[in-house]
Amino acid sequence: MSDAKNESAVLNRFLMGNEAIARGVIESGCSLATAYPGTPSSEIMESLVRWKTELKSSIYLEWSINEKVAFEVAYGGSLAGKRCAVAMKMVGLNVASDPFTSAAYLGIRGGLVIIVADDPGPHSSQTEQDSRFFSWFAKVPVFDPGSPAEALEMTIKAFDLSEKYQVPVMLRPCLRVCHARQNVTISHPRSQINIGAFEKNWTRWAATPKFRLALHGELNRKIETISSTEIFALPKLIAGDSQSSRIVITSGSVSSHVRDVVSSEAKMSGLSVYKVDLPYPANHSALQSLVDSKTETLIVEETYPVMELQIGNRTKVKGRMSGAVPRQGELDPEAVERIISGFVGLKPKDFEAPNLKVRRPSLCAGCPHRPAFFMIKKLFNGAIYAGDIGCYTLGVNLGAVDTCLCMGASIGMACGFAQAAKQGQDGELVVATIGDSTFFHAGVPALINAVHTGANFVLVLMDNNITAMTGGQPTPATALTADGSKAVPIDMERLIRGCGVEFLEAVDPYDYHALENTLKAAKSFSHEKKAGVSVVITRRPCIRSKNAAVSKTKFQVGENCDKCMTCVRDLECPAISFVKQNKNVRIDPDLCAGCGFCVEVCPSKAISVWGI
Ligand code: SF4
Ligand code: SF4
Repeated sequence: MSDAKNESAVLNRFLMGNEAIARGVIESGCSLATAYPGTPSSEIMESLVRWKTELKSSIYLEWSINEKVAFEVAYGGSLAGKRCAVAMKMVGLNVASDPFTSAAYLGIRGGLVIIVADDPGPHSSQTEQDSRFFSWFAKVPVFDPGSPAEALEMTIKAFDLSEKYQVPVMLRPCLRVCHARQNVTISHPRSQINIGAFEKNWTRWAATPKFRLALHGELNRKIETISSTEIFALPKLIAGDSQSSRIVITSGSVSSHVRDVVSSEAKMSGLSVYKVDLPYPANHSALQSLVDSKTETLIVEETYPVMELQIGNRTKVKGRMSGAVPRQGELDPEAVERIISGFVGLKPKDFEAPNLKVRRPSLCAGCPHRPAFFMIKKLFNGAIYAGDIGCYTLGVNLGAVDTCLCMGASIGMACGFAQAAKQGQDGELVVATIGDSTFFHAGVPALINAVHTGANFVLVLMDNNITAMTGGQPTPATALTADGSKAVPIDMERLIRGCGVEFLEAVDPYDYHALENTLKAAKSFSHEKKAGVSVVITRRPCIRSKNAAVSKTKFQVGENCDKCMTCVRDLECPAISFVKQNKNVRIDPDLCAGCGFCVEVCPSKAISVWGI
C-alpha cells in the first residue's frame, strides 16, 4: 500500500488520543471496526461513531459481546478483503488471545489492526500486563505511540504494514496517550479499501497441524524481514546527539517524559535519547550495535522489559532487569526523573506530593446495585460472595463481595465454591453477583456449566441496562448498535431459561419487600432444597443513564433516629452521613436520588419523605 498521507492535510484538531486513533482508523480506509468497552480504550469506538457521522462514512461499527468475538468479527472482515480494526483494553486481549495467536499464523487479507490500550499503574484494571509481550508471544508486530499525534500516524502505518506483510498488527497506546489531548493534523480519509473478495484456500484459512507448521515458518520469516528492514524497528534519536557516550532507549508514552527530562535538565547534558516505534520485532542487531558502541545504556519502557530482553549482551545495559527501573507501577514524570538522575549519579528533585483527600470509591446514591447488596448481606450473612468486574465490584464496601478475578469469573468460581461445599462444608451458602454486560461477555458458558453440574448457589444478575462502568455502552440486550442503528435485542430471560435454569425471577431492587421475598425463595431453592442454581435478576436502569427515571422525591431523617447507624454503615448511601458537630444523621438533598430504600432499611422508621 502506498503512504496513506497522500492527501494534503486539511486541518488541525485538538484531539484526545482515542479520538486521534479513531481518526487514523477512518483515514486508513477501514470498512469495519469492533470493540468491547474497557478503560482506557472505550472512547475509541465512541469517537469512531462521531467521525462516521461527521464524515458520512459507511464504516460498519459494533460493540461486540466480548473481545474474542470482536476480534473474530474483524478477522472475518479482513479475510473478506476489507481493512478492519478491533479495539479493547489489555485484559481484553487475554479474552481474545485464542483467535489473536492463531490469526498471526494464518495471516490476513485486508489490513487488520488490533488496538490494545494498556493501563500501567494500573488505574482501572486488574493487572499491569504489557501487551507488547503478548504481541511478542503471538509474533504480531506492535507500534507503541508516544502521543495522540503519533497514535494517529501509527494507526495508518499499522494498516500499511499489516497489508504489506499480510500479518495482523497491534497498536498499543498506554492510558497517558489514550486520554492526553494534543493538536493533531488530520487529513481526508482514503476511500474504503477492498483488496478483493474472500478466496477459498483451506490449507491457509482452515489449516490442519501439518500446514500450521509451515505457516509458523512463514510467520517467522515475515517477522525477521520486518525486524531487519523496516525503519520503525530501528532506534531513532529524539534528544541529545549521537556522540553521547551514555544513552537512554525508550518507547511509547514514557518516551515523552524521558525526552522532557533529558532536554530540560542541564544536569542531564551528555545524555541522548533513542526511541523505538516498533518495540517488537525490534531490530536486534541495530539495538545491540548501539548499546555496544556506548559506555552505558538505560532502557526506560512501560511496563515490561520488552526491548531490554531483545538485547543479547546486556552487560552495559541498565533497566528493569538490573533494578534501575522499578518493576511495577506507572512511569510518570517524577518516576522518570528519579530513574534518570540515578542513572547519571545525581540526587533526584524533591517533588512535593499534593495533599489530596482520598475518597473511597462508592456506588452512587440511588444506584440499584446498593439495595441488592444490602439484601444479599442481610439474608445470606456469612455466605461466600463471589463477585465480578464492573461497578458492582464496589459491593466490596458493603461486605458483599469476597472475590474478583476476571470478567465472568463470579459464576465459575461459585461453581467451585458450591462443589467444595458438597465435599464436607455442606450448608455453606454461596452467592454470585454479576452485571448484565459481564454476563453476556463471559458469564453464559459458566452458567451452563453450573446448571449442567448441579451446582447449588444463588446468582444475582444486576441488570442496569448498560455497560455502566465504562461509560454506558449498549449490551446485547439493547435494541441499538454502537452508531445508533437498529439491533436485535437479546431476551435475557429466554437466554437464561435456555441454559436450563429452573428458578428465575426478575425483581425491582428498589422494592424492598419484593427483593427480600425473591432472594429468600432463591435461597430456599438452591440451599434448602439443593435444587441447583437459582437466578435472580435485579433490574433497574443505572442511575446515570438516560433511561433512569430519577425521582424528585427527597428524604429526611426525623427525630425517631436513635443513631443505630444501620443506614450509614450497612447501606452506605453517599447521601447519608453522620454529622459530628450536632451528632445527627443527615440526608444531603443534593445527593439523594430518591430511591426510598433507606426508608425500609431504618429499624426506627425515622426516615420519611421530605418534600417534592
Ligand atoms: S432515598 Fe435514601 S438510599 Fe435512596 S438515595 Fe436518597 S438517601 Fe440514599
Ligand atoms: S437507620 Fe434510622 S435510626 Fe439508624 S441511624 Fe439511620 S436514620 Fe437513624
